[in-house]
Amino acid sequence: MSTRRRAAVATTLTAALALAAACSTRDPSADPPDAPSSTLTLPPGSGAPVPTQVGTASSGPAREVRADVVGDLQQLLDTRAAAVLAHDRASFEAGLAPRASLLTTEGVYFDNLVQLPLSKLSYRLEPASLLRTGDAYWGVVEITLQLTPYDALPTRTLDRFRFVPAGSGSYRVSSTTDRAWEADHAGLQQPWDTEPVTVREGAGVLGVFDTADERESRGVVRSVQRGIADVSARVPFDEWGSQAVVYALSDPRFLEGFDDLPGGDPEALDGLAFTVPAGDDEIASTRFALSPTLLSRAGARRPDADLDRLVRHELVHVAVGTHDDGVPLWLSEGLAEWVSWQASSPQERRVPAAALAAARRGIRTMPGDGSFNDDDAATHYALSWWVCEWLVRTYGPDAPWTMLEAFTRRPGDDPRTVVRDLLEISVDQLARRGAALMRTTYATPTTPTTPTTPTPPRPSATG
Ligand SMILES: [Zn+2]
Repeated sequence: MSTRRRAAVATTLTAALALAAACSTRDPSADPPDAPSSTLTLPPGSGAPVPTQVGTASSGPAREVRADVVGDLQQLLDTRAAAVLAHDRASFEAGLAPRASLLTTEGVYFDNLVQLPLSKLSYRLEPASLLRTGDAYWGVVEITLQLTPYDALPTRTLDRFRFVPAGSGSYRVSSTTDRAWEADHAGLQQPWDTEPVTVREGAGVLGVFDTADERESRGVVRSVQRGIADVSARVPFDEWGSQAVVYALSDPRFLEGFDDLPGGDPEALDGLAFTVPAGDDEIASTRFALSPTLLSRAGARRPDADLDRLVRHELVHVAVGTHDDGVPLWLSEGLAEWVSWQASSPQERRVPAAALAAARRGIRTMPGDGSFNDDDAATHYALSWWVCEWLVRTYGPDAPWTMLEAFTRRPGDDPRTVVRDLLEISVDQLARRGAALMRTTYATPTTPTTPTTPTPPRPSATG
């Protein structure tokens, strides 16, 4: 997907860290009738045995409660995390209110999490968020989760839990669902928070699936393995550690959770790279999602060239990471397209018919970020690729990366100035030269690069 889009997602998620709802698997029947409507303050870190006036959601007067309730609830949450990390289902369930629907939905969540390579999992109650509703409490819980070795930093998200007394001063979790709160604190939920998932690992690959069968999920993981080997050798950055997390989900909720998708239609996307925040404006991980429509290709007996190329495109975004933050889409997408085609033979390198037709009519300007993913996206992606090809053929194999560096050295500068200072031509002249190279490369029917069928699989939908 686009840099601009990824930057927007990162901003959204970072801004939403204090708000983001990363909720456990939903239990629609479990919404208690006494969802709170106001907040209250308890002393931070309160284990102090001072009686505290605690707000109530009911119309009754505030009641005096034990101030060490925060300590009791935190202990419950610590036990919950330890149970997941130890794969101790009995201990996990012992921390839940004994209600069948809750046990079912939380059981799905538990089954999801124990498949993940978790090096870190914790739930921290935010004492200031605690709200008493009758004998129960609602509280905001910060969830810290790290997938090792895939996440550079732990991810941190927020959820809201309800706690009910279980006798002898102890508590149990009675809900991880507060729809009103979640609606107001929209954030991106990970697939293991919302539906049953299957996790499959390969060398440097963590795949998360829902409906994929074994052959399909294995095919995706192998395609990503091949892509990592190829992209590692071509992208001059190593922070990504040559490893990636990929989602291939039939449930549309994950992609629908993005409010700034390239092109705006989740079902039209073949792939999407996205960042996951660690908080404090830091990025924990760049992951990517593949369309479920690609699963049949992944399940085929032989490696599918189109799937592999799409995977390489998304892996370039993962490998480049934040190095292309703030650069124009024609460069970030051009790099992803250009690198993704390098492993293909010249005969396989196809441009869409629409792009070739546009190049033959004459492309005058470089597409701007605002229109990059419009109806002419296929042409824009192809043009960006051939701009990189022109840079390589004119200045050598490192030229696209030199261009990227020129942008990242001058954050906030006018892209037109950056291009002119580097190449002594305008950005529109650069577009015309890329278009001309595309046109001449595909001009003669006898040249080996001539596409037999110049129609790649939905390139316009490549995010
Ligand atoms: Zn892309």
